[in-house]
Amino acid sequence: MALIEIENITRSYQVGKEELKVLKGISLTIEAGEFVAIMGPSGSGKSTLMQILGLLDRPTRGTYRLMGRDVSRLSDDEGAGLRSKSIGFIFQMFNLLARTSALDNVALPMIYSGSPNREERAKELLVEVGLESRMDHKPNQLSGGQQQRVAVARALVNRPKIIFADEPTGNLASDQSEEILNRLNLLNRAGITIIMVTHEPDIAAHAGRIIRIKDGLVVADERAPGGGAGGGGGTAVLEAPPRSVVAPPVTLAPPQLSLAELGEYAASGLRAMAANRLRSGLSMLGILIGVAAVIAMLAIGRGAQKAIEGRLASLGSNLLMLFPGSPSSRGVRGAMGSSSRLTLNDAKAVRKVSALISNMYPEAEAKVRIVYGNKNNVTELQGVTPSYVEIRNAKPYWGRFFTAEENLRLARVVVLGQTVVNELFDKEDPVGKHVKIKGIDFKVIGVAPIKGSGGGGGDQDDMIFVPINTAMKRVIGTQYLHEMAIECASAEAMPEVMAAIQRLMRHRHRLPDYKEDDFMLRNMADIQATLQSTTQTFSLLLGMVAAISLLVGGIGIMNIMLVSVSERTREIGLRKAVGAARRAVLLQFLVEAASLSTLGGVAGIVLGVTVSLVLSHFAGWAAVVTPQAVLFSFAFSACVGVVFGLWPARKASLLSPIEALRYE
Ligand code: ADP
Ligand code: MG
Repeated sequence: MALIEIENITRSYQVGKEELKVLKGISLTIEAGEFVAIMGPSGSGKSTLMQILGLLDRPTRGTYRLMGRDVSRLSDDEGAGLRSKSIGFIFQMFNLLARTSALDNVALPMIYSGSPNREERAKELLVEVGLESRMDHKPNQLSGGQQQRVAVARALVNRPKIIFADEPTGNLASDQSEEILNRLNLLNRAGITIIMVTHEPDIAAHAGRIIRIKDGLVVADERAPGGGAGGGGGTAVLEAPPRSVVAPPVTLAPPQLSLAELGEYAASGLRAMAANRLRSGLSMLGILIGVAAVIAMLAIGRGAQKAIEGRLASLGSNLLMLFPGSPSSRGVRGAMGSSSRLTLNDAKAVRKVSALISNMYPEAEAKVRIVYGNKNNVTELQGVTPSYVEIRNAKPYWGRFFTAEENLRLARVVVLGQTVVNELFDKEDPVGKHVKIKGIDFKVIGVAPIKGSGGGGGDQDDMIFVPINTAMKRVIGTQYLHEMAIECASAEAMPEVMAAIQRLMRHRHRLPDYKEDDFMLRNMADIQATLQSTTQTFSLLLGMVAAISLLVGGIGIMNIMLVSVSERTREIGLRKAVGAARRAVLLQFLVEAASLSTLGGVAGIVLGVTVSLVLSHFAGWAAVVTPQAVLFSFAFSACVGVVFGLWPARKASLLSPIEALRYE
């Protein structure tokens, strides 16, 4: 059984509309252990023939049997598997991976073949080719001859049966050429079949057989009398299978995905990123900003929600609020008749309408200026009754609240909110002092407990409280209430109480059946639910805006990956030539895209959390960073890399090895 048998091989290229025939029917048989030189003028089809023999390219017509197996129509990955295990390449242009050490270059094919002890084997071979002191050098730190020796070591690393060399000395000075040729001779003597393309006769003279090609046809096939395989005597490192016994090709499936393989992809991704720092940095920035925005927005939204929930929780859920004005014309109070207003008499009637009402307070409010000494402040005045303290859980923490008796006699007493105290009083105790409200003298009797701010509701401590009668008759000069708060005995009692109040108010306002309510009765639980769904919508909206910026970031990554793929087309070709299957190339670019976006994502998380903390600290906003938000953005950014990297990576993996290698 011959090692290589080709029969009537043709290869044509489609150039525009013309079909260019490069190989016009070549038949050859090459035995294991031969050293064959393919000669011919430039453009005669030598490289094309060699690429077909090396499974980098497929013939247009004809059959090819390699080691007894028909390989004319192998799939991409089968070709890669066979190249990885049986074939080594040496190119005129060396084709080493840039920015990669000699050692890693030599070890590369072993990653794709899944072989163990890669580093030892690569070191052994580098020593063998005399580069023990250059293992960590990158290709641009090596001479041409040294680079080609690295390429020879790389071709040998998987113990190939055949080595293809396309003008291996074409770019070398003559002494270095000699060195490489001697090495090929040595390999041949160790039993490896060598097929070398050259156009120089003195180089071809090293071979035992010279095949001449002209215009796509074999014109001569000569054996040198004394040349060729010289029998035995190879070194242990270069040992090859005995040349007479040709094993049938082993399984061609790519090896199991190993950690080493993933590590190599991550490393090559990092190398590519490091080589294009600015570009990678900018595309990472897109993800970074997106993730930071998502985290900060979710934190702010969540914070607002928490603030509102906290405030509402202190109100208790058995509370009803009664507002003037019809539900359908909220906010246009001025347009309504006087009957749509609420008065203290309404409040008295409401209090008595049901035994299930446990407590209530009416409220009137206005913006007022409060003056103490030379300081003054515009704040919100609330006129309420002492029931306010129980219903709103607002027992003054300093001093006292006013009494029902003080309310009846229109006493000029005031309880201040914390913000007002801070504005007007420095080191003095406000209780017992006299302040002026709208020019009227008031005595401060207490300081209200802190309620906090945030959630868009304004400062809840920028308020003062006076008896409602005093407020309506002495300060504001109004007969109308702003609202009433009604506490029910239990949650179950609420529907009944609401119905009773509605009946009462319709009756008091003399509303005929065909008119809708001119007041609004709201259940605190409803108000809570409305507020909650509002803040939820709000945070969702914020999150979505942020997610869009993540999407834009993802497109940036895709763009960079596409650039990266076309820039590294030759690298992809080389990787495929030394045995990388489609999956390997796909994974490599996916890992690269995912690392890019994940790195950006991690930086974005750090930035987002920092921004949230700084905001809540300095601006006084409540911002709550939840672990879910961090986890979500991390997972999302990694997915962005994978999803947007998939297309460029697939594009890379589908490249044919020889087209990629020839890519300019
Ligand atoms: P050489 O014998 O110098 O190695 P090649 O085998 O590289 O020659 O090329 C043989 C011929 O095929 C040349 O004339 C070249 O122009 C043509 N050729 C090679 N590759 C392509 C291609 N991808 N498309 C079209 N023509 C090609
Ligand atoms: Mg050529």
